[in-house]
Amino acid sequence: MHTHIKDISAYVSKEVTLKGWLHNKRSSGKIAFLEIRDGSGFLQIIVNKSDVDEATWGTVEALTQESSFSVIGEVSSHPKKEGVFELQARTVHAIHIATEYPIGNKDHGPDFLMNHRHLWVRSKKQWATLRIRDVIETAIHDYLHSEAFVRTDSPIFTPSACEDTTELFPVPYFDLGEAYLSQSGQLYLEAVIAGLGRCYDFGPVFRAEKSVTRRHLTEFWMMDAEAAFVEHDENMDTQEGLVKAIVKMCLERCQVEFSILERDTSALQGLLEKPFERLMYKDAITRLQSLGSDIKFGEDLGNDDEGLLTKESPVPVFIHKWPKDIKPFYMKRDAEDETLVCNNDLIGIEGAGEIIGGSQREDDYDVLMARIKEDGLEIEDYAWYSELRKYGSVPHSGFGLGLERMVRWIAGSAHIRETIPFPRLVNRIRP
Ligand code: ATP
Ligand code: MN
Repeated sequence: MHTHIKDISAYVSKEVTLKGWLHNKRSSGKIAFLEIRDGSGFLQIIVNKSDVDEATWGTVEALTQESSFSVIGEVSSHPKKEGVFELQARTVHAIHIATEYPIGNKDHGPDFLMNHRHLWVRSKKQWATLRIRDVIETAIHDYLHSEAFVRTDSPIFTPSACEDTTELFPVPYFDLGEAYLSQSGQLYLEAVIAGLGRCYDFGPVFRAEKSVTRRHLTEFWMMDAEAAFVEHDENMDTQEGLVKAIVKMCLERCQVEFSILERDTSALQGLLEKPFERLMYKDAITRLQSLGSDIKFGEDLGNDDEGLLTKESPVPVFIHKWPKDIKPFYMKRDAEDETLVCNNDLIGIEGAGEIIGGSQREDDYDVLMARIKEDGLEIEDYAWYSELRKYGSVPHSGFGLGLERMVRWIAGSAHIRETIPFPRLVNRIRP
């Protein structure tokens, strides 16, 4: 039995065994400081040459960075820092002595680090980021369940596109021709809500978009949520509640991670008590133009526009009711203005960009068929989907949240490639 560093505060003045990797070592020849990493945390081990037997001191001298070892010792409180603990070692056993580790303290370029991603995940900042990712996933599951959503899962092999066919990855599929890797499970969830009422999926999706930015992966994790009997405004309420629940749980559970990342969380703290801004697309365009953007009505918002809109904002901003001409066929027309649809993007603050896209869905069979034709899509591909509008059609809405976008914002990562263990980018598929 061994103890995990995360539980160490319960063992002050007691003897414990820890198992982990050597993260860092300093030694004066009489006293050595070993920083151990066990996955659950980091801890300083103090080894006094005069207090340990020769074998242990020999092992301590032989341990190289990343060597795995076990240590038995007594837990003590740090003499100066409250809430920080140390281990006074009695015996140290090497499990495996590592050969020279390629990642040092010097500044390696991003390419070098990405080529060594299989090792880089051991670094403190990567540890902190991946743990924040886990808490975000947990917050999503907890919040949606508290709102009566049921988790379900959508297929990854799909026979046709959800939206844009230029962004699909084709895969040969036996005698049935070509299948595509899913870009979103939304259409399938729209079917399942008639069984489950409210549901969500959470899994990898694939986009062959050649966007080389700090916010685009070719494989990313998407959470799609869909709810029956929910219309546009309530759909935004759910998104707002979800984002606040994520921020709240991260603030509660990730203080150690935030301090490793040197992440100032005051803006996150600040958004919890305030309503998010809801800005119509047309007003967003006017505001952007007054801020100096050359965007025109009818154009999609670029990265710079999203940054400009949220620069001064203490809260994320919904941009809703976009022109139907630049949006997919399944979005419901706005009853007050037939040229618009009841959709939204949610733009995070602090340069996060778009983190969620959502909409109310078209629930009228004839209107949906007309939209499918208008967009030049194959009716046959959407036959099953349209059929959902024939058997107890109801108003319904949903949204898709990109997990890595969320992690990038909350953890304050410069680039989305650090928010997933093994990122897939246009120009990278290894390791
Ligand atoms: P963008 O305009 O930023 O490319 P999008 O309009 O293509 O986003 P949606 O199709 O609405 O995005 O997808 C829903 C969510 O999935 C987005 O809000 C975002 O969080 C995430 N997302 C979309 N594309 C990517 C990507 N290539 N990599 C990571 N996350 C993505
Ligand atoms: Mn995109």
